[in-house]
Order: sequence, then C-alpha cells, then structure tokens
Amino acid sequence: MKNTYLLILIFLFGCSNSEFETLPIGSSETDYLNIIDFSENQTPKNIVLVVGDGTGINQITLSRIVKGGPDHKLAIDQLPINGTSLTHPYGNLITDSAAAATAWATGKKTKNKYLSIDHEKNILKTLPEMLYEKGYISGIVATSSITHATPAAFFAHIDSRYKEKEIANQFLNSPINIGLGGGLEFFDIEKASKSHVLLDRKELLDLDFRSDKKILGLFDKDGIVRSEEKPTQRQMTAFALQHLSKNIDACTGFFLMTEGSQIDWAAHDNDAKKMLIEFDDFDNTVKDLINFVTNDKNTLLIITADHETGGLQIMKQNNKNVLIKWGTGSHTGTPVGVYAYGPGAHKFSDLMDNTDIHYKILDLISYDNLNESICELYQ
Ligand SMILES: [Zn+2]
Repeated sequence: MKNTYLLILIFLFGCSNSEFETLPIGSSETDYLNIIDFSENQTPKNIVLVVGDGTGINQITLSRIVKGGPDHKLAIDQLPINGTSLTHPYGNLITDSAAAATAWATGKKTKNKYLSIDHEKNILKTLPEMLYEKGYISGIVATSSITHATPAAFFAHIDSRYKEKEIANQFLNSPINIGLGGGLEFFDIEKASKSHVLLDRKELLDLDFRSDKKILGLFDKDGIVRSEEKPTQRQMTAFALQHLSKNIDACTGFFLMTEGSQIDWAAHDNDAKKMLIEFDDFDNTVKDLINFVTNDKNTLLIITADHETGGLQIMKQNNKNVLIKWGTGSHTGTPVGVYAYGPGAHKFSDLMDNTDIHYKILDLISYDNLNESICELYQ
C-alpha cells in the first residue's frame, strides 16, 4: 500500500511541468532571403564550411520556435539542400569535437581528443594543407579559442586537444592565412612576428584595413566572452570573407571554416537562453553567407554540426510557451543535419558519414586535376 502511494506520487511528479523549462513561442516575421538556382553541372571555386558546435536538429527547432513559431524560417531553414550526417568517431558511439572536425578536415575517423592524426598517431593532411598546395588560401573563424578542438583540427596534428600552447605554435607554422577567435593566452606573440596580429574589435571593423601578411585575430584570453567590446561570429566571418574574396582571382580559390563554438558550451550547461543567443549569432552568420553565395555564384556553402549536445527535447506546448527538457550535460550520438547552397550543393542531400563531407568537397573542386601552385596572398 505504502509503495503504491509512493508510485502515484512519483507518477504525478513525473507528469508535472516542473521538470520542463518553459520558453515563450516567438512571433518574429521571417526575413526571406534571395535563393537562386544552381544547375548540377556547375562546380564551386570556393568552399565555406559553417559549424554549429553541438547544434542538433532540436537546437535548430527550438531556435525557430522561440524566434517566430513553428512556421518561421531561420536563415539555415532557407538553404535549399538538406541531408543527414552520422557523427561517430573511431572506436566509440559518441564523438567529441576533435574527432568530428578531424573527419571533415582529413576524411578519416580518429579517436576522441586526437587532432588530425589517425588512431595510431600517423599524421593526416588537412583540407587547408592540401588546398594550399593547389593555390588556395584559407581562413578559420571560431568564437572559442582558435586553438580549440574544431578550429585546431584544420591545422594541428597532436594527440591531445588540450595541448593548446603547442596547437598555437602549430597555427603559426600552418598554411592558414587568416585565423580569428580567442586564445591569446596560448600564443607566444613574439613568435607571431610574421603575422599581422589583431587584438581589438575596432581593427576588425576598420574597412580600410590592409595587410599582406598572415592575419591572426585574438580577441579574448580563451573563448570569446560575449560583450559589446568583443567581435561576434558574424563580424569575424564578414572580415575573413572580405579578405579571402578580395583578390581571389590571383588564387585558385578560398576555403573558410567558421564555427559557432559556444552553442555547444551553453548546451553542456543546459542553458537554453544562452544557447539561443549563441545560435542567433550563428544564424546571422549563415544569413550573410547565403547573401554572399547568391552574389558570388562561385562559392559552395555547407553547414553542419560535429554532434548534438545536451539531448535536447521539445516536449509540449503550454499556451504560448514551448516546454523543453535536457537529457544530459554531454554529447549524444544522434545524427545531425547537413545544409547546403551554391554550386555542388545537390551532392549533400543524402545520408552521409561525417568523413564523406571531406571527399565530397575534394570531388566537387576536382582536387586531383588542379595544378600545383602557391598563392602569395597573406603569407
Ligand atoms: Zn562539447
């Protein structure tokens, strides 16, 4: 009898709304973007990979609902091509950012925490390193430190993502032409004499800014703490895009990776409000990139996530509110979306492995047929 009473109590408590977090359903109007058609025989010159760290389908769904309701269209919702990516690393069901970014950068699965080395610690060439030999220039943007797992997988080769001082040294010796993010505490700035170092948001917003050197922007000690004085993902991406595209006729093309790093951090903390702020910056970045692709017509935009974080669930509607629940403070093994726009986008409409994204990019630019050359911009 006592047990039955206890079970009823547990049942009642389990069904109450107190275990859910409540957020208001929004009413913002959709900002419809100009999306143009690309024929399937057009090929891209430039590649932009946008990463929403920890940004699963439900993180996007919640952002849509809270912005403008279930029928609202975010910028990411307006990309015409949509596929699905598996995310598991070598020897595990659940990935971290290091192994997932290594899969995109090198086309190989590795162990969690490893950066662009295989599970036996053999060095794997990254996309920017491969593209450099074919006359490409490249940029990396992140709202974390530039030495953090996702950005680092594109230039560093090391057996622990946590060796950030060593990763910073590897950045300085890498072929990356523009790196923008946080991570000042990991760099020995004296060793960066060959780079043009930016430390202030104002320099980033200066339209007359000119440099022939490698550009390294370090806007916080570690991850960028969001404030008026610090640049957003959108601002850093706009700067990188402007510099990479400005004199691009002198090169084969450009590769840019830009990451909304802290969507993941907010999801680890099960902090929906912070997650939505980080996502908004990410989606504004996507909006600018869609407009860039529409005007440029030579750039392929690919957006995906390394993994889902937080086991976020959209549970119920209660009047004008959405009720959500988090399942964990860690990463989950759920597949993530892939969204694409531009020449070659149609190749991203299937169920793919995260490593496939690497090979699809190389196929689309006919990597094996490109002539060997080095582009002299920002060296
Ligand atoms: Zn994470």
